[in-house]
Amino acid sequence: MPRPRKWRRVCSMPDNSRFGPLDDADAVRGVVAMTVDEYETIRLIDLDGTSQEECAAQMNVSRSTVQAIYDAARRKLAQSIVEGAILQIGGGEYRLCDGTSGHCGGRGCHRRRFGHEGVEPIPEEVPPPKE
Ligand SMILES: [Zn+2]
Repeated sequence: MPRPRKWRRVCSMPDNSRFGPLDDADAVRGVVAMTVDEYETIRLIDLDGTSQEECAAQMNVSRSTVQAIYDAARRKLAQSIVEGAILQIGGGEYRLCDGTSGHCGGRGCHRRRFGHEGVEPIPEEVPPPKE
């Protein structure tokens, strides 16, 4: 019997999904595909300073799974900045956090930040300036 799929909780989607060399477009060496759950480990561990244990709890996976996701994410980051590959973020086995679960630590959780404290989200589209 196949193991039931365990969704990885992601609290914040990336604002940008493509990164790459800006100096020389001809120097681009391929594309590295990073999943959204891999991105989430970089955000939580490297940016927010979350421990791998806390990160595992927030993403609803085991510590060893977080370790594996994080290792893959770090390797892809390195490939991009060292080898000059475009980093493309998208897909993966994740479910966007709805901010209502007791296990969500709320670190950078979009729903919590914008939905649970009565703060209006920033509009996606900025109207064009009037002439
Ligand atoms: Zn959350």
